[in-house]
Amino acid sequence: MKLTGTARINGKGYLEIGGLSVPELAERFGTPLYIMDEELIRENCRSWREAVKANLPRADVAYACKAFCTMAMCRLAEEEGLSLDVVSGGELYTAQAAGFPAGRIYFNGNNKSRDELEAAVRAKVGRIIVDNFYELHLLNEVASRLRQRVGILLRISPGIEAHTHAYIQTGQLDSKFGFTLENGQALAAVKEALSQSHLELKGLHCHIGSQIFALDGYVKAAQVMVSFLEEIRQITGVVLEELDLGGGLGVYYSEGDTPVSIATCVGTIAAAVKECCRELSFPLPKVIFEPGRSIVGPAGTAVYRVGARKEIPGVRTYVAVDGGMADNPRPALYGSRYTALVANKANQLPAEVVTIAGKCCESGDILVSDVKLPRLEPGDLVAMLTAGAYQYSMASNYNRLTRPAVVFVRDGEAYLVVRRESFDDLIRNDLIPAAWAKEGSLRAVR
Ligand SMILES: *Cc1c(COP(=O)(O)O)cnc(C)c1O
Repeated sequence: MKLTGTARINGKGYLEIGGLSVPELAERFGTPLYIMDEELIRENCRSWREAVKANLPRADVAYACKAFCTMAMCRLAEEEGLSLDVVSGGELYTAQAAGFPAGRIYFNGNNKSRDELEAAVRAKVGRIIVDNFYELHLLNEVASRLRQRVGILLRISPGIEAHTHAYIQTGQLDSKFGFTLENGQALAAVKEALSQSHLELKGLHCHIGSQIFALDGYVKAAQVMVSFLEEIRQITGVVLEELDLGGGLGVYYSEGDTPVSIATCVGTIAAAVKECCRELSFPLPKVIFEPGRSIVGPAGTAVYRVGARKEIPGVRTYVAVDGGMADNPRPALYGSRYTALVANKANQLPAEVVTIAGKCCESGDILVSDVKLPRLEPGDLVAMLTAGAYQYSMASNYNRLTRPAVVFVRDGEAYLVVRRESFDDLIRNDLIPAAWAKEGSLRAVR
């Protein structure tokens, strides 16, 4: 078992995070519960900042908040001196509501609407990452109408296949994201961007995928992108000064995962950028990183309470918990694997192999398959580690389950940062057509 940050097993054999016992947190806040180790998130933010500072004269780290986007998290990123990468009007709104400085916001996304672009321009976000020709022209029109000049990066699809799950590869030729480099579309986009009256082309962006362990994809991307910067200089005479290499650094979920440290990742990529610039005598650009998972993933723990058990002799034993694919769709979506432990029996030896099932009405709603755990009884608490990224932010109300509460824990204190949803929250936007209430309504007719 691999515990990170402030997580440890206390004298009672209970899992403890931020100096607080998980069974007590579960009692106080209910389950399912997402517990975030605030100190570890801050540590990861600092590791990113220190790594870029040590390797690059000009750099920026933008937390990709789609990994876990709440007001408290935006505030934390702000306090830690990070910039923010948002991908929708909703994320932008959350950041603004948390008081995040707009000038430090990067706006990504492959189909930003007119309203979203307008909101971003009005807010004066730092950079808009333009994904396609439609958006390029739409943004120019929006900026022109609002009488503003907007700093943009162009998202390039560099034709690189990161070694990761196909659903989270994003830089390959056959991708919905960005301007394709191979067929000349990217160069055409650069020329088109330079000719737009209200856009200021500042640089290029690429993002090759997520949950990446092998750095060669990044090195290749850095080389391809710097070469393209040089090609742009030769053809147009313009020297672009910003190079955003996206996010994607992988983290440990389960056996077989071999994450690279933040320092090594940044060091390797920075070296590749510098070497390529030296070879081409191209001035070193400001390098931007957009980490999401590597900042919040390892800091989160999802805690569920055990209920029903179904034993099928000779086949499998299912143990069901009070959450599942509604709060964590990753296993169903990507076949993701996790490390689980029993928070109230953390130092007991494994006694049985079970499959942890969720409570949704789907056979695919399995959180962890065939895991060796101490004997589980109703009321026990299953903790799933590395639950901080792409779980709460992907949570739904499927089966009308309410989304869990999220607490930050630190130095023996727990801070509720997202309240558990109530049944009233579930029906908040529901309407029954007023006409149905009239006499002669459908029900009466039937
Ligand atoms: C998702 C995403 C990121 C963050 O990826 P992680 O794997 O969470 O680090 C960064 N940039 C862009 C454009 C993304 O889509």
